[in-house]
Amino acid sequence: MKMTRSPTNIPRRGLLLVMSSPSGAGKTTLSRRLLASDPNIAMSVSVTTRAPRPGEVNGKDYHFITQEEFARLRDRGDLLEYAEVFGNFYGTPKRPVTEALQAGRDVLFDIDWQGTQQLGAAMGEDLVRIFILPPTAEELRERLIGRAQDSASTVAKRMAKAADEISHWPEYDYVIVNEDLDTASAEIEAILRAERLRRRRRLGLTQFVRELTQGL
Ligand code: ADP
Ligand code: 5GP
Repeated sequence: MKMTRSPTNIPRRGLLLVMSSPSGAGKTTLSRRLLASDPNIAMSVSVTTRAPRPGEVNGKDYHFITQEEFARLRDRGDLLEYAEVFGNFYGTPKRPVTEALQAGRDVLFDIDWQGTQQLGAAMGEDLVRIFILPPTAEELRERLIGRAQDSASTVAKRMAKAADEISHWPEYDYVIVNEDLDTASAEIEAILRAERLRRRRRLGLTQFVRELTQGL
């Protein structure tokens, strides 16, 4: 019997996975888990004009660049999206994303709802949007306090900003309530597995079906 290409190896186009959440809901924790468990998805590293924080690594956490370099990238059309947050500019370099898509690799984004809207306009159906919610307001407050040991007023400010961010949940394709970490991780993995199987991403299907039917 002649073997055709395995259905699991059918070439596909990559996808762009955005995870947004109010600060403290668990987006960073869930992203790290996904990156550690799945070799076919990589983090998009943004450019920013803000100064590095202690411990941040250039090229890993961000590409730290000057205002002039940022303006040049933006004016040349090298950024897929960009935003100004508290006087600093942030943007997503275009080239690594388009290269990954064509090679059938997936890209994970940690950007806010404004960036998600722009990315949706630029990339259309390549984008998969997940919004992460905390199970309760009290749990969000406890996670914020537990993580950063912030002052009560800083936690209160983040809680107030959380309501604004959460108001954008209907703009996302999926909403995950991050109560139990293992359950939320499994749900994200399930979304990614199903989205990878979408017909329109599986560019090799035409050839696979042609070879399949030739053997009938
Ligand atoms: P974000 O990136 O959304 O700001 P983090 O991933 O930093 O949030 O999570 C905030 C805090 O909550 C961290 O201390 C993290 O360990 C904790 N955390 C995240 N998910 C859960 C969960 N499901 N249950 C309990 N604690 C969690
Ligand atoms: P921070 O300075 O704390 O690292 O990030 C501030 C905010 O900027 C966060 O809400 C983060 O999600 C957002 N951000 C980081 N990179 C980008 C980007 O490339 N584009 C957009 N639109 N937002 C970003």
